[in-house]
Amino acid sequence: MNPQDVAALVTGGSRGIGEAVALRLASVGHPVIVNYRANDAAAERVKASIEAGGGSASLTKFDVADADAVSAAIEPLLRNAPPIGIIVNNAGVAEDALFPVLERESWQRVTRTTLDGFFNVTQPFVMPMVSRRWGRIINISSISGLVGNRGQVNYSAAKAGLIGATRSLASELARRNITVNAVAPGPIATDMLSKEHADEIVKLVPMRRLGTADEVAQLVAFLASDAAAYITGQVIGINGGLA
Ligand code: NDP
Repeated sequence: MNPQDVAALVTGGSRGIGEAVALRLASVGHPVIVNYRANDAAAERVKASIEAGGGSASLTKFDVADADAVSAAIEPLLRNAPPIGIIVNNAGVAEDALFPVLERESWQRVTRTTLDGFFNVTQPFVMPMVSRRWGRIINISSISGLVGNRGQVNYSAAKAGLIGATRSLASELARRNITVNAVAPGPIATDMLSKEHADEIVKLVPMRRLGTADEVAQLVAFLASDAAAYITGQVIGINGGLA
């Protein structure tokens, strides 16, 4: 695969892990389409830094949980040249609360962003990937989807569900040369991780530090490469030894 011939769509690419993934994939030569939900200025900055590094980037703004908005935005992307062969389902939100006081809206926003987002964004691209006999689908799950975490019943359910979807879709698509994997980060220094709890969290990590968004991005870029062609249906942890 020549990276210039395979475009990548990264959801939630305007900051944090998604931004780092977009920059990494662009740095190895993939044209990158950066999705985001709200923050236009942040998304424009990501596009500008990809272009400043000699890469190619475009932006697409939609809420991954909104099926109609995703369909409308993706329809022209299905004719993108080069075709989109890499999808990184990274968009995610956390709304932590202990279960007795967890609001229905928080349950729905978190599960819909992760699970409906995966479905809405991924499904339209699958048959085109099947026709081309090449594809990479990389889902950003979480250590919270593997082990429980107080205050994250909604988030853990969503991220564990994404792992189930990853494994099943991997077995559906394996014969078509399309790999589907999940990455399960531990605590990574981004806006999502509450600064007030970071010190406590670091004490639980055997490496005694947070991960960086670029460390996750390098793993994603490896999974997107031809070097990872025989890896599918896997959940790969990146967590400083936490689990
Ligand atoms: P951030 O909160 O820093 O960034 C989230 C990104 O997702 C932003 O670009 C945001 O766009 C976008 N986004 C949020 N909701 C939607 C939506 N409905 N539709 C489209 N885009 C959306 O998060 P992180 O970078 O930390 O997290 C990225 C992924 O990694 C998430 O799935 C998260 O669950 C997972 N993860 C993070 C860990 C961590 O410690 N940071 C640990 C384990 C997993 P905008 O700014 O426009 O709203």
